[in-house]
Formats: sequence, structure tokens, C-alpha cells
Amino acid sequence: ETLDKGLEKSKSSFFSKLTKAVAGKSKVDDEVLDNLEEVLVSSDVGVDTTLKIIDRIEERVAKDKYLGTDELNKILREEIAALLSETNSGEDTEYTIPADKKPYVLMVVGVNGVGKTTTIGKLAHQFNKKGLKVVLGAADTFRAAAIDQLQVWADRVGVPIVKQSMGSDPASVAFDALQSGVAQDADVIIIDTAGRLHNKVNLMKELTKVKKVMQKVIGDAPHDVLLVLDGSTGQNAFEQAKQFTAATEVTTLAVTKLDGTAKGGVVIGISDQFQIPVKYIGVGEGIEDLQVFNKYEFVDSFFK
Ligand code: GDP
Repeated sequence: ETLDKGLEKSKSSFFSKLTKAVAGKSKVDDEVLDNLEEVLVSSDVGVDTTLKIIDRIEERVAKDKYLGTDELNKILREEIAALLSETNSGEDTEYTIPADKKPYVLMVVGVNGVGKTTTIGKLAHQFNKKGLKVVLGAADTFRAAAIDQLQVWADRVGVPIVKQSMGSDPASVAFDALQSGVAQDADVIIIDTAGRLHNKVNLMKELTKVKKVMQKVIGDAPHDVLLVLDGSTGQNAFEQAKQFTAATEVTTLAVTKLDGTAKGGVVIGISDQFQIPVKYIGVGEGIEDLQVFNKYEFVDSFFK
């Protein structure tokens, strides 16, 4: 029910827009499809994914000859669930860490301000609560505030943090954090990385170097590269996903700030276009406000 509450704004907004788009119409015709296209684009599903959905609905209209607007919800819901299914299992209710990967290394990437530090803090809390031993690595050394904020979260959750002074080499911090994690017999090591999108080549170089140096300690690290995106920024989130996936191999996504936004559609478009599963959604600023993404709940919350 937290998800429903968190997504209330997205839900009412998407749902009411959809209702308006079909008002006074009994069958799905070109005008309804045009309206629907507008609703999806304005909900930040993204143009490509919107066109894909519209195409699929057009196909069904063509096949069945007649499609009532009363059925549109159901069909739209099916199509969106199908799109999300391509990348999201929907089975997960928590983050599972493979037993044979210890310490499990989670590298977190994303632009400043998207909620990267907060997400790391919430994750550390979730792992810690399950009795897993967590070590944080403050490899976002570009801003002093980033190191301080991560320290605040480490204190709040009660987990150790490995850090150096601002401006030090991120790869060196990551190396230390992994060594420390191994020495402490940690279950999970979460590495924060610099959130600058200075330019693609530098970003790629920096992330590649951090990875390479980590592999000197743990051969197959990182086991997961989590890209954090702000769900309220619409097209910016798409652009960031493009930049980061070009710079490094992103394996999972976290979409934050879905509590205060009418832009939940970002989740649909991004997981479709980048074919990367959304593992978490952020639904508030509090320590408990991170949920494992469940596509069924997500779609439900849109159409209830
Ligand atoms: P970073 O620069 O990417 O590390 O961003 P921070 O973690 O410092 O977060 C930036 C702001 O977004 C802070 O005020 C957070 O409290 C807020 N924030 C992070 N995640 C969420 C979320 O899921 N919902 C809301 N409403 N705020 C969030």
C-alpha cells in the first residue's frame, strides 16, 4: 500500500488523462489513438515506446475490427505489462545476493542530485536489516559534499565507510573499500562513484579505471552496476541512461522520486528502450522509502 500511496500522483494523473482522452468516445478510432499517444508522451513514456504501444493497439483494432474504449484500459495494461516483462521478472520481492559472490560488489552510478547517495543509504539499510555486513566506499571524490553525505548515511545506518579526502583518485578509494570489505568479511560492498557527466570519454575512462582497479582485489567485481535515475526529470532521465549505458555496462536501474511526480511513465520507456531491468524505485526521502520494483504492482497502480 506504500507503493500505491507513493505513486498516487503518477497514478491519478495518468489515469485521469487517459479518462479524458477517451471521454465521450465508445470506440477506439484515430482520434482516440492520437489522444492516447499524447497521454503516453506527456507521461514520459518516451516517443519510441509510445509508438510501439500505439502500433500494438492499432494491430488489435485492425484484427478485431472494433475495439471499445471500455476495453482500452485492459488492453493498454496488457501491452505495458508485456513491455515491462521483456526486462523485469516481477518475481523479486527483495534484493537477493548470490551465495557464491562474497563480498558482493555493487557499483552505483548516476548524475548528482538524482538521489544516488540516498539510494545507497536506503540499500545499505535494507541489507543491514537482513543481517548482511555492508561496507560503503566513497569513490565520488569530486565533491566534498558527496563524501560528507555518504558519511551521514553510514552513521545513520551504522555501517563502516571507506573514504579519502576530496579530489583523491576514485579508483584508489574503490580499491581500499574492496580490500577493507574482504578483510572485514563483508557480504556487500557498495561503491559510490562520481556523478559528473563532464563528457562521455572522461566518464567512460573514469568508470573503466574504477572497475579495473576493483578487479585487482575481486576478479569479477563489480557484480552489479546500478544506474540511479530521477523519475521526475522525464527526458533528462532518458538522456542520462543513454550516456551512462554508452560509458559502462549498466546492469540494473533504480528510479527515484516517483512519490512526487506525474512522470512514472519514465519507468516504462526506459526499461523498454535500454532493456535493463528496473530493480528499485524510490518513493520518498526516508530510509524505508526504497522498494524492489514489482511490475505487476506498478502496472496496477497505474490503472486501478
Ligand atoms: P545525489 O546527489 O544523487 O547523491 O542525491 P541525494 O541522494 O543527495 O538526493 C538529492 C535529493 O533528493 C535529497 O533531498 C533527497 O532527500 C531527495 N531524494 C532522493 N530520493 C528520493 C525519493 O525517492 N523521493 C523523494 N521525494 N526525494 C528523494
